[in-house]
Amino acid sequence: MTDSVNKEEKKVAAGGEKKEGGSEARRPARRQGGRKFQRRRKFCKFCADKTMVIDYKDPELLSQFVTDRYKILPSRVTGTCAKHQRLLTTAVKRARVLALLAFTPLHHD
Ligand SMILES: [Zn+2]
Repeated sequence: MTDSVNKEEKKVAAGGEKKEGGSEARRPARRQGGRKFQRRRKFCKFCADKTMVIDYKDPELLSQFVTDRYKILPSRVTGTCAKHQRLLTTAVKRARVLALLAFTPLHHD
């Protein structure tokens, strides 16, 4: 009777080591200088043309600086300087009182 059971089992520990490397931080490259439209520089009409005088009796001139709803346009739209914008505002308001310029579109009958 010979019992020879030799079992040599080599257990290879399969160690799955995952190497996490090579994670490159990608930075999104920003595009530079994509200006398609170059805005024209605004200028104050009244400063440019000294002959233009802001007059509350001139509704044609004042109407250039109001919207279609007779609101006074801001200087950032028209480019008028602070000094002339002030004068313009006063002129428009005076013209309104004198009924040379409308307050609202409803008044325009
Ligand atoms: Zn001006």
